[in-house]
Order: sequence, then C-alpha cells, then structure tokens
Amino acid sequence: MQEFKSVTESIAKASKTLFSFEILPPLKGQHFEHIQQGVEPLMAFDPAFVNVTYHQEEFEYKQLDNGLLQKKTVRKRPGTVGITAALLYRYHANVVPHIICGGFTKEETENALIDLHFLGVKNLLAVRGDAQASMKYFQAEPEGHAHAIDLVKQIAALNKGQYLDEELLNSTPTDFCIGVAGYPEKHMESPNLDSDLQHLKSKVDAGASYIVTQMFFDNSKYFDFVDRCRNADIHVPIIPGLKPISVLSHLQKLPQTFHIDLPEILVKEIKKCSDNKSVRQLGVEWAIAQAKELIQKKVPVIHFYTMGRSDNIQKIAEAVY
Ligand code: FAD
Repeated sequence: MQEFKSVTESIAKASKTLFSFEILPPLKGQHFEHIQQGVEPLMAFDPAFVNVTYHQEEFEYKQLDNGLLQKKTVRKRPGTVGITAALLYRYHANVVPHIICGGFTKEETENALIDLHFLGVKNLLAVRGDAQASMKYFQAEPEGHAHAIDLVKQIAALNKGQYLDEELLNSTPTDFCIGVAGYPEKHMESPNLDSDLQHLKSKVDAGASYIVTQMFFDNSKYFDFVDRCRNADIHVPIIPGLKPISVLSHLQKLPQTFHIDLPEILVKEIKKCSDNKSVRQLGVEWAIAQAKELIQKKVPVIHFYTMGRSDNIQKIAEAVY
C-alpha cells in the first residue's frame, strides 16, 4: 500500500508553495463521473493533498395528503469515505477527508476513523460542522462531540492506540495528521477574535498539527491572523484557503454563509460586470493577485475551494504555479 506523507511533512520538505484543493462529494444520485471532470484537470498541478468535505444529514418536511407534515431525514451528499477511496485508487491522491462532530456519536466517529485508517488515509481535517439548515444552533448528538477540540482529542487518543473500549487489548495506534479550521475574520459564533483564537490554540494543544483558514478576499486579514496566532503561541502551519468569486449572487451569499467581508473595491468591480461570465473572469483575476502575493510571502500551501467546478481554479493554478 502506498504510504502518503502527512500534510506537515509535505510542507517541511517543500521548496515552494504547494497547491491543494477541496471537493464536495457528488449529490445523491450522481456518480463519481460528475466530479471527475472537475478533479482530473486539477490533478495535473500535482496537488500535495485533496480534501473531501463531509455533509451531515438535514431534516426536510413533506406535506402529506391529510395536511400533516412528515419529517424526513435527507443526506444530500453522502459518500465522503467512498470518494476518498475512489480518489486514492484512481489518482493515488493524498486525500484529506473531513470528519465532523455533527451527526456522529463517538462510536460512529471511531468506526469512521477505523475505515479511513484501513484505506491508508494519513491526513484528516477535524471540524465541528454547522447548524443544520432547520436549526438555529449547532446540536451535537447525545453521545457525540460538541466542539472540534473533542474530535481532535478522540483522534489524538486513537493515535496512541486508545480506543473507546478501554478493555481492548493489543490495539493498533493510528497515525493521522490532524488539521483544524481557523477563521481570519473570526468564527460567526465567537464573541470576539481573542476568544476564537484561544479555542484555536486549544485545538492545536490537543493535537492538531496544521490549520486551514476560512476563505478571505483581502490578504491582510490572513497576514494579521497569522501574526495574532504566532503571538498567541500557535506555531503550526496556517494554510490560506482561497475561493474565486464566480457569480454575482456571491456578493450576498458569501458574507451571509461564511461571515466574511468582501473588500469594497472588489464589490465595486463586480457590480460593473455585465454578466456572470465577466464576474467569473474577475473572480479569477482577483484570486490570481491574492495567490501571487501569498506565494511571494512564502505561505506553505494555497488551498482552493472548488465548490464543485474547477475551470476557474485551473486558470489560477496555470497563472501562479
Ligand atoms: P469549533 O472549533 O468547535 O468552533 C466553533 C465555535 O465554538 C467557535 O466560535 C469557537 O470559538 C467556539 N469554541 C470552540 N471550542 C469551544 C469550547 N471548548 N467551548 C466553547 N466554545 C468553543 N463544515 C462541514 O459541515 N463539513 C465540512 O467538511 C467542513 N469543512 C470545513 C473546512 C474548513 C477549512 C473550514 C474553515 C470550515 C469547514 N466547515 C465544514 C465549516 C465548519 O464546520 C463550521 O465553520 C463550524 O461552524 C465550526 O467548525 P469548527 O471546527 O471551527 O468548530
């Protein structure tokens, strides 16, 4: 079986800024081919790793003939473990599946970790997950984790061979390299930047070896964040996450969904665009400028959020790698 490098090892051995990207598993009913055309061209840029997001189930309400509402559980994008396996055997990609607190008991988490370990997965990104669309606040499973730090602790314990069943004998330790999320513009639920940073530090102290940031459109937010992290004694690699704007509606949707600011000059330029084709082009140009500055400042990796389509990420990668 191929041995993959940990994210931190890849960074330590690299002589230049690495390239990585994140994909979403296909919607239920679609096959691997639906994401293949987005993934394949990006493999040509030799990504150091490829992330696969995890999507917890949602509740939907269906009106019945008698007027009553029926609650239905739907998982729109199942298959994170399956897509991880498909990327491993089709491309030998160093896949980083996301593992989330939402929807998992500790035991289900342990079982998922065992599966990923069997597959030869070396790296994970441990995140809490957002509140379900039908809920105002995030709710952990009764036997699950309320915060990403608890997930990090569980994975770190498994790395020492400590499974939930303490009576298990001769247990094999896993060797996952654990990444966590960081927010240059603060996580939306956090009362202030310092409090958010303290929780981030706790995740690192609990065993996280690298941080991937939420998307940002003004590099100074990332540079300030790195400075604040270093002053708070967080010394792991901090990987900037970039997403090119691609449609006009992103002007509302991105701030609404991710609680981030868009620079006024970018907003003005987007508003001047006559159609979404020119918005997409402008998004590419903005991201190229961001990526060039990040590379010049020697960031370890640039991580691109594809959100399913990759023609724009290809153009950016061609321009900067
Ligand atoms: P946490 O670290 O638990 O933090 C959540 C909030 O609680 C923060 O405000 C933090 O300051 C606070 N906090 C943390 N620890 C404690 C504590 N012990 N006590 C009190 N407060 C605390 N979502 C998905 O559903 N699937 C994905 O695949 C996915 N991938 C992502 C990848 C990246 C790079 C990023 C940046 C986000 C991703 N998300 C994903 C979204 C993420 O799940 C949400 O942003 C979520 O709201 C917070 O996740 P977290 O891991 O940062 O949570």
